[in-house]
Amino acid sequence: MPVIHIPTLIYDAISMHAETSYPYEACGLFSGIYSQSDPIVITGYTKSANLAPNPRTAFIIDPVTHIQLQKNTRATNETIIGIYHSHPDTAAIPSLHDRENADHGNFLWIIASVFSQKIMDIRCYVTSRAGSGFLEAPLELLPNEAFCL
Ligand SMILES: [Zn+2]
Repeated sequence: MPVIHIPTLIYDAISMHAETSYPYEACGLFSGIYSQSDPIVITGYTKSANLAPNPRTAFIIDPVTHIQLQKNTRATNETIIGIYHSHPDTAAIPSLHDRENADHGNFLWIIASVFSQKIMDIRCYVTSRAGSGFLEAPLELLPNEAFCL
């Protein structure tokens, strides 16, 4: 399982987005460099509005946000490599809904568990193949100095 490198800056931003969205699910996308063998490096993120009709227990990423991030990464060696969302008052474990919606292989899912507006746990998973579920991957925080591009 590859290690996922995430700048502290982005980790903190995702945490804050999850806390301020409570009791609703926060969601967004992140970009970076995907590799099957080396650490996967997250280099950017974009918050999305949650368009789900039931945002307390589900999320839908705004397609406009998706297209914008795609445009931003076009001239770089980065691509959209994953999504994040929060689980208000439940564990950072993929839900049945998440499993049903994991339709790409080799895609990262960061799930942030938030209880009473406080982050309890953040975990990262890689979808191994469409429909075959989630494998947990270790998240390694990078100091922000390592992230000056
Ligand atoms: Zn979920």
